[in-house]
Amino acid sequence: MDCLFCKICEKEIPSKVVYEDDKILAFYDIDPKAPVHFLVIPKEHIAGASALNAENAGVVAYIYAKIAEITAKMGISSYRVVTNCGPDAGQTVFHLHFHVLAGGPLGEMA
Ligand code: 5GP
Ligand code: ZN
Repeated sequence: MDCLFCKICEKEIPSKVVYEDDKILAFYDIDPKAPVHFLVIPKEHIAGASALNAENAGVVAYIYAKIAEITAKMGISSYRVVTNCGPDAGQTVFHLHFHVLAGGPLGEMA
């Protein structure tokens, strides 16, 4: 499949890995929007949040649990998790991903 994040999972495209297991990959964003900015993705290709359903949504809870673990290990106590869904919301890569932003005051955001 011609998907950037599937290629990153397959290591066809290199990334700076933060955490990896059989279900998910976490890697630093190439264009950070905060002092700490990494992405967490399921290894399974899911096009975005609007493609979640009762069968595939379990990985979302798993990702949030892993984000809690990863940030704790990094010594991060405040962080923001963002998922853009659809072009008007700023989604540019159509493989579900969770931005984890941290490392200082992030400013207000809904
Ligand atoms: P979106 O705009 O879809 O919410 O987020 C996509 C994110 O992927 C952006 O923050 C962008 O900087 C990041 N990104 C795009 N291409 C690459 C890449 O090749 N490697 C990495 N590590 N991040 C990427
Ligand atoms: Zn993909």
